[in-house]
Amino acid sequence: MSANKEVAIIGAGPAGLITGSVLKKTDFTVTLFEQRDCLGGSWAIQPLSTLVDIRDGVFGIYSPTYPSLRCNLPKQVMPLPDFPFPDDYPLYARHDDVLSHLHRFAEHQKLLRHIRFNHRFLALDASSTTSPGKRRWQIQTSQGAGEFDAVVFCNSHYSFPKLPDLEPLLPFTGRLEHSFSYRGPEAYRHKRVALMGSGPSGEDLSREISHCASRVYLCAHPGSRQLHRPVTGRYGAHNNLTRHRDVVACNDRTVMLEDGEKLENIDVLILCTGFQPDPAFRHALPDTGLSGDQNTIAPLYLNLFHPKYPELTATSMIQCAAPFILYRYQAEAIAGYLKGKIQLPNAQQRQFAAEQSELRQTGRVDFSIRKANSMEHINRLASMAGIPPPTKETLEILAANNKKRLEHPDTYRDLPWVNG
Ligand SMILES: Cc1cc2nc3c(=O)[nH]c(=O)nc-3n(C[C@H](O)[C@H](O)[C@H](O)COP(=O)(O)OP(=O)(O)OC[C@H]3O[C@@H](n4cnc5c(N)ncnc54)[C@H](O)[C@@H]3O)c2cc1C
Repeated sequence: MSANKEVAIIGAGPAGLITGSVLKKTDFTVTLFEQRDCLGGSWAIQPLSTLVDIRDGVFGIYSPTYPSLRCNLPKQVMPLPDFPFPDDYPLYARHDDVLSHLHRFAEHQKLLRHIRFNHRFLALDASSTTSPGKRRWQIQTSQGAGEFDAVVFCNSHYSFPKLPDLEPLLPFTGRLEHSFSYRGPEAYRHKRVALMGSGPSGEDLSREISHCASRVYLCAHPGSRQLHRPVTGRYGAHNNLTRHRDVVACNDRTVMLEDGEKLENIDVLILCTGFQPDPAFRHALPDTGLSGDQNTIAPLYLNLFHPKYPELTATSMIQCAAPFILYRYQAEAIAGYLKGKIQLPNAQQRQFAAEQSELRQTGRVDFSIRKANSMEHINRLASMAGIPPPTKETLEILAANNKKRLEHPDTYRDLPWVNG
């Protein structure tokens, strides 16, 4: 496939904007379809007028960002292509700083006129006008259809709450929320709050809520991902936060834990159980052979290319400790393939490799740039695309940041930066 092709990009978050800029620079005609009326994806906060009980559904909520959200990565490891964060930004930027930066990037790259806002992607079909040797794809959106030579899905795995089995939690008579709709600690003033899950959301929210709530319980399975060093005893803003085992069931206002402990008179249980692609999206791909589980769309060759139709790609379906960096390498690899500069193995080999992929075999695609397989992955994309891999300094900053978060979970964003 050569240049001057028409490419549809689904989503105008960081992945869509980075991909759009790289493909545009490579002389493709890009059209970004964005379901919201704004760009920036997760970073574009969406105020909510009411508190949301997950049992009522979360349709119409598109962003998990809350007013106090600050990056958990230093700005140097959230680079946009050839567009560094301004020097006067804090090391750990606020969410609205990131959003402003994305806006400036879109303007600088002249991407704005390529974005179709309020266009929700609905379905993809092989076009009926496809001629031999020239395949086209029809994109159906909430505002009509269009035909393209290639499609890049940048609609992210942060679009929807990932939920545990809700059945045992349904008898809870307090409010059952998900971190996806959290918009600040005031809603929990004088409340007794339990949080389920101790990933980045559970860690950040429990500490923030402890400023307002009378009591906060952070509950997680000991084997689950513990971002920060386990804490024993009381901590938090008013010494009102403690750690406990994972939630197994609820009854009335009681939250029951896996070690038999019972947390009584709980007002709110917040599920901090992560995010996933919008489930509606998985059903929107009937003819592609792609199937989705909770966490990703698979199987994809190199977690990127559809094995049978490599002009269909999905950039943001894998978790990565430094997503902006990954998106740039993925975009360069897509551009290289579409331009005919990168040769992929044949369809059978792609399918085999996709199914055998180590990331895929884990069931849960959870990879960090620091892990050997992640680096190999990014290095492989870099070498395919003929561009330098992430620098040693970038990797050192990521490693130092992880250490800092682990050692100073409450204050790492405000401490002076010491590399190593
Ligand atoms: C609480 C939290 C904190 C984070 N902190 C950091 C951090 O510090 N540093 C960092 O690098 N990353 C962080 N991340 C990850 C962050 O989400 C990514 O940096 C980045 O926003 C992901 O970009 P994306 O474009 O893949 O997804 P998103 O930002 O989610 O954008 C996806 C876009 O696709 C659109 N879309 C979805 N479905 C459709 C459809 N059917 N039709 C049309 N459009 C659609 C959405 O509306 C959205 O605009 C954080 C994530 C969370 C949840």
